[in-house]
Amino acid sequence: MKRVLIVDDSRTSRRVLKDILDRAGYEVIGEAVNGQEGYDLYVKMQPDIVTMDITMPVIDGLESLKLIRKFDPNAKVIMITAAGQKEKMVEAVKFGATEFIAKPFLEESVLTALEHC
Ligand SMILES: [Mg+2]
Repeated sequence: MKRVLIVDDSRTSRRVLKDILDRAGYEVIGEAVNGQEGYDLYVKMQPDIVTMDITMPVIDGLESLKLIRKFDPNAKVIMITAAGQKEKMVEAVKFGATEFIAKPFLEESVLTALEHC
């Protein structure tokens, strides 16, 4: 069973993602509410896959992605994007993002991105 860490400042997004992952047989091992907590939990739990929101307080998803990939160059990080974030997506690719999922979540897109990891 693949272990997944969800990093998102929106409680609703975390819940929707967790429901999709639970149903599909992934194990959600942690939830973080900002990029710093996401990085800290990554180091502590070493999940197989991370879902990473971009716009978050403390440090954003791009900074958190950068830190995680520095700690673990093989980290699988799926970025959660909203409309109008093309430039951030380009940056995320540079920093080693594995996949992208657009908000609002479509179950099929979420599962396809997870399968690619
Ligand atoms: Mg957000």
